[in-house]
Amino acid sequence: MAAWLTKPQPILSLDNALSLIGILIMKPAPKSESLNQFLNGVFNREAFITDDVCVSCKTPAFYFRDDLSKKEFSLSGLCQICQDEVFGTEEPV
Ligand SMILES: [Zn+2]
Repeated sequence: MAAWLTKPQPILSLDNALSLIGILIMKPAPKSESLNQFLNGVFNREAFITDDVCVSCKTPAFYFRDDLSKKEFSLSGLCQICQDEVFGTEEPV
């Protein structure tokens, strides 16, 4: 019997481990485009809010109807228009 057969082999060699990591990096789990956009929005949310840019429509968010909407932007990163689309307007126009 060859010596290398009797010697205990590691389950994963370093090369195997690296190629496995490569596969994981190269092939991310399939996600829908909208979910990707949502995740990107979540992860970049603070940067958008700091820059006064809406995380959803990517336009500058300077106008807010009231302090509540302004506070909502600091939480969700949604501009007034997107807030109205998501939450609806409180008063019927
Ligand atoms: Zn918006």
